[in-house]
Amino acid sequence: DLVVVTGANGFIAQHCVAALLRQGYRVVGTVRSQAKATAVLEVHGQHPRLTTVVVQDITSRDAYLAQLAPLSPSAILHLAAPFTYATTDYERDLMIPSVRGATALLEAASQIRSVRRVVQTNSFACIYDADAGPSPGKTYTARDWSPLTYEDGVRAPNPPTAYRASKTAAERAACDFMRSCRPQFDLVSLCPAMVFGAFLPGAAPRSIKSLNTSNALVHAVVSAPGGGSNGGDAPIPPTKGPVWVDVRDVADAHLRSLSTPEAGGERFLLAAGVYCNQEIADVSRRVLAEASPKLRTRIPVGEPGRRESHLHFGVDARAAEEVLGMRWRGLGDCLAELVPQLYGIEHGD
Ligand code: NDP
Repeated sequence: DLVVVTGANGFIAQHCVAALLRQGYRVVGTVRSQAKATAVLEVHGQHPRLTTVVVQDITSRDAYLAQLAPLSPSAILHLAAPFTYATTDYERDLMIPSVRGATALLEAASQIRSVRRVVQTNSFACIYDADAGPSPGKTYTARDWSPLTYEDGVRAPNPPTAYRASKTAAERAACDFMRSCRPQFDLVSLCPAMVFGAFLPGAAPRSIKSLNTSNALVHAVVSAPGGGSNGGDAPIPPTKGPVWVDVRDVADAHLRSLSTPEAGGERFLLAAGVYCNQEIADVSRRVLAEASPKLRTRIPVGEPGRRESHLHFGVDARAAEEVLGMRWRGLGDCLAELVPQLYGIEHGD
């Protein structure tokens, strides 16, 4: 089977490509430039079942068609979409690439008869209602929808709101497309919480400035200002998340979405659970205690054991466990690899 992965150089997509190759799939990764194509091939050791194509403009149906139709793929994982808060032009940098990117890909797929399934990487942002506030006692599931619209994204008060609107509008556009065009493939919607985890070897960014948005939340805790050798005294920044999932589990969910027939037409929330930044500090200090005692001293102490879960909503990801067979890795497993890697990236700065 040949599977297309859009945005194959991205943080999550790299893990999807590696997992697909491990399971024996042939993979075509789309990227925006030849240099990124070369980098992706290198990360995967020039794997014989991996090729790349350049799709410069992800909002162009014809670009996707020209590159993908000759390959006759059976499935597509659509991960290419901006996840950045570094913009002031929300329509140009978030709404259009996310929404038009999704519909262009689906339109192209509907003209490639071999495609049987498309997995769209949506987000907890498509589920969560930020206006409802912290909502202690509320439990979000994949049946909930963010109320944000395209217009809300264009006129958003800040980049995180615009990003959440871009993901919500892209998922709605995909649902509308499936309803009105009835293509030959079915669609699976995956809605991951904040995704944390180490980069594949060779795929880590060269500087902290280019760190992806979700791992940057972990870096903000373990490198709190005033940290360094005296990290213990630094304040712990407020939690922005507060639900998370390990990147390896997100990749696993993408693969299970391909091989689980009854996942077709379904929507899944992917979340290991709630977390807070104090927990990231506590767990990082614990997992680094033996492996890297020196690094451990950089992590702020705060108030060990203080938790915030009673202050806000919870999540229920049982549908992904029941239908896809998901099990979630713990925060210790995740941070034991990620935190030393983040310090390594700092050295490149
Ligand atoms: P990355 O930023 O690491 O990867 C994003 C990918 O999308 C890259 O390949 C990037 O290409 C491509 N891309 C971004 N903007 C554009 C654009 N304007 N035009 C063309 N390509 C673009 O992000 P993640 O791996 O974290 O995210 C992957 C997907 O998962 C996204 O859809 C994101 O919304 C979703 N997601 C992520 C979560 C997280 O916590 N990380 C949580 C929930 C959902 P290039 O390198 O060329 O810019």
